[in-house]
Amino acid sequence: MRVINKPAAVSRCLIAAAAILVNVIPVDAASSSSSSRFTNHLQFATFSADVTVPVGHGMMGGSWLSKSIADPLEANGFVLLGRENPVVFVSIDWCEIRNDAYRRWQTVLSEAAGTQPERVLITTVHQHDAPVADLEAERLLREHKAAGTVCDLEFHEKAVQRVAMALRDALKSPRPVTHIGTGQAKVERIASNRRYVTPEGTVRFDRMSSTRNPVASAAGEGLIDPWLRTLSFWDGDTPLCAVSFYAVHPMSYYGAGEVSADFPGIARRRRQAELPGVKQIYCSGCSGNLTAGKYNTGARTNRFVLADRLHAGMKAAWNNTSRVPIDHFNFRTTPVGFEPRHDAGFSPAELEARLGPGTKPFAQCLAAMGLSWRKRVDAGRPIQIPVIDFGSLQIVLLPGESYVEFQLAAQQMRPDSFVCVAGYGDGATGYVPTEKHIAERDSNLDDWCWVAPGSENRLLQALRSVLKAKAQ
Ligand SMILES: [Zn+2]
Repeated sequence: MRVINKPAAVSRCLIAAAAILVNVIPVDAASSSSSSRFTNHLQFATFSADVTVPVGHGMMGGSWLSKSIADPLEANGFVLLGRENPVVFVSIDWCEIRNDAYRRWQTVLSEAAGTQPERVLITTVHQHDAPVADLEAERLLREHKAAGTVCDLEFHEKAVQRVAMALRDALKSPRPVTHIGTGQAKVERIASNRRYVTPEGTVRFDRMSSTRNPVASAAGEGLIDPWLRTLSFWDGDTPLCAVSFYAVHPMSYYGAGEVSADFPGIARRRRQAELPGVKQIYCSGCSGNLTAGKYNTGARTNRFVLADRLHAGMKAAWNNTSRVPIDHFNFRTTPVGFEPRHDAGFSPAELEARLGPGTKPFAQCLAAMGLSWRKRVDAGRPIQIPVIDFGSLQIVLLPGESYVEFQLAAQQMRPDSFVCVAGYGDGATGYVPTEKHIAERDSNLDDWCWVAPGSENRLLQALRSVLKAKAQ
C-alpha cells in the first residue's frame, strides 16, 4: 500500500522565513458590542518540545528503521485554564500514538497540568517518516524475541517527559485569553480521495500519497474537505496561538529512512517565522482516505510545492479571522464501543502465531499492534471522543485514521458552530472506514484496520452525543 520514492542525492533544508507580518485582524461586531460586560476567567499557555526519534528507530510502526534526520519532529500544544480543571491539547509530529502509549501521554501530561488524563487531547500529524508508539506491542515483540520493532520504550518515556517539562514551564507564565478567533480558507490542489473510478467504471482505492499513474491523476478529487480551518486564542488585540486543521495524509514522499515532519512541518515553521509571537499548531483532520496523490508524483521538489499550497491556506484562513469574546469553555467526552476485528487472520491465536520467527518483521509488528488493541479492549478501556466546547466553536478529536466522512458528519451535526476536527487521536483503531468502504472492498483495509464492521454507526452515535447534535 505504501508508495516509496527513491531519495534524491542531496537532502535539502528549506524553511524560508519570509517576514510577512499580519497586523490587522478584523474584529466582528459582536466583539466590540459585548466586550464591556466581558469578565475574563480564562488563562492560556503554549508549549513546544523536540520529539525527534534517534537513528535506528522503527518508522511507521516498524515498516523500516530511521537512517537520518531530514528535519526535526515537534510537539506543539496549549493548555487552557478556566473555572474547571485544565484541558491540554497537543499535536505531535509522529505517525500514531496507540493504546497504553496514548494513556501514558495522557497520564504524564495530566500530572504536569494538574488535571485528569481524559482532559488531555493528543493528536498526531501522522507523517509516515515518523514513529508509531504502542508500548504493549513493543513489549510483546521483545518477549517473543521478534526481529520487528514498533518503538523504543526508553526513548518514548524520554519524549513524554520532555513534553511534560515544557508544559510545566509554560504554566509558570500563563496569559489571559479574552477572545477566540475563527477563520477558514480553501486549500488548492493538495487533497484527493484514495477512491477513484476509472474510465471503464472500475472503483479503485490505490491513489496513495504519490502516484505516477495517469488515470489516478486524471480522475476527479473525489470526496474531500477542501477547507482549512484556523482557530486562534487572543489576549485583547494580541494573538497568542493559531491552531490549523486540514484533512489530508501529510506526505509528499517517504520510506527512505529519513525522519521528517514533511510538508506540514515546512508550512507550520514558515508561519511561525512570519508570526513569531503566535504559537503555530497544525493538526491533520480525518484523512484516513485522503492523500495528495492526485497532485503529487513523489518528486522530492514537490514537498515544497505542497508546503507552499498549505502555507497559502493557513495564511488565508488567518487573514479571514474574526473574533468573539470568550470567558469559559465546556469539556465533554464519550466512549465509543468499537469491537476488535474478528475476520480471518485477526483472531488472537492467529495474531500470536505471527509473532514468531517465520514472519517478516513488519508483519510481526502489525500482529503485535493487533494484540495490544485486543488486550486493551479486554481490560475495559474504550476509545474516548473528547470535545472542547466554546459555544460558537467546537474542537473534536477523532481516533485513528478515521475517514473524511466522519469529519464532514461532525460539521453537519453542528451547523450552528465552527467545528474543528482533528483526526489521529488514539491510533489503536487504524482505519475507521464507512460500511460502504467495506462493501466495496477498499484495499487499504487489508491490514491497517483493527476495528470490526459496524464501526461507522458506533462512531456516529458517539459524535452525535458528544457534540450535542440536534435530533434530525
Ligand atoms: Zn496513514
